Amino acid sequence: MLIYEYKCAGTPQQYAAIDEAIRIVQFIRNKCVRQWMDERGVSQNDLQVSCAVLGRSYSFASLLNSQARQTAADRAWFAIQRFYDNCREHKPGKKGYPQFQHDNRSVEYKTTGWKLEPDGKHITFTDGCGIGCLRLVGNKKQQIAAFPTKRIKRVRLVRRADGYYCQFAVKTDRQVEHVATGTQVGIDMGLKYFYATSLGDMVENPRFLHQSEKKLKRLHRRLSRTQKKSVHRKKVRQKLAKGYLKVQRQREDFARKTANALVSSHDLIAYEDLKIANMVRNHSLAKSISDVAWGQFLQWVNAYGVMHQVPVIAVAPHFTSQQCSGCGQIVKKSLSERTHTCPQCKLMMDRDENAARNILNKALGCTGGHSETDGLAP
Ligand SMILES: [Zn+2]
Repeated sequence: MLIYEYKCAGTPQQYAAIDEAIRIVQFIRNKCVRQWMDERGVSQNDLQVSCAVLGRSYSFASLLNSQARQTAADRAWFAIQRFYDNCREHKPGKKGYPQFQHDNRSVEYKTTGWKLEPDGKHITFTDGCGIGCLRLVGNKKQQIAAFPTKRIKRVRLVRRADGYYCQFAVKTDRQVEHVATGTQVGIDMGLKYFYATSLGDMVENPRFLHQSEKKLKRLHRRLSRTQKKSVHRKKVRQKLAKGYLKVQRQREDFARKTANALVSSHDLIAYEDLKIANMVRNHSLAKSISDVAWGQFLQWVNAYGVMHQVPVIAVAPHFTSQQCSGCGQIVKKSLSERTHTCPQCKLMMDRDENAARNILNKALGCTGGHSETDGLAP
């Protein structure tokens, strides 16, 4: 699936109609969650049935396209499914019992209820919500009209801090010819660098993380000084939301570009499976921003891996920083020690590079420095 995104240009009435559609989605999703809570053994199919019933009993809900109502019911089912999965896998901590949603921002259509105009620059929504015809503003190089309409599987309208967006999910079998480079690489994601590789390359933490962090902190302070329910507070909150949106976009852009560069220049990639979502939540803004950046980066590395048909391997995070990549000896070191020095084989290198080599070794299925890995060292 390829996602194309455009900004929507419309009238305030049209935006209000989108908001209404988004509210209906939330209503249906929450009704479905309620049904699951109240009745025993509710299945995905039961929820699909009840969203037709909801359409009949609430006139406002029937305004929304029937397939869009189904995707709303599917959302409830995803939340329920995730809860079941977490319980089955005995995931530590909270299991994510489905909650009612209050802040839904999107509505998703499947293949009906919308029509792409022949000029490829307008989309008309034809269901009862009355959204009408929206102009699509976006990159001239990405032309949604270039695809046959039947390849467009989903159309999603999303509300963000700076306006409304229309996303198209297009089914493609995108594959890239990978030029073999003969290098396999392990990456260690750390605090000092964004990541370090087993070949000794480092990618610095992006500068914008620090800049945005300062700006967001300042806005948070300003927000806390404003009067509750005041106009001023609303304005500052809007600014803050836009600030977060900007970081989100910068981060995504950085993650995608860095991942593409990494995958296209190596034939195998190994990383440490840190389970970023499971990591202890902390109050440091900078830390939380970079954690999210890693998560996105790894998602893109995996996506590009599929596209390039390059193996991407996650390894368990045990002793990767303490072990010597030369002989396998455990060399204890504190976080502040930046260099790995092995008393046994006298290996000396940057600690992150050492960790990255261990990650690669693990992925290749060997525990210490054996002859198979020697060829990988520069
Ligand atoms: Zn050693």
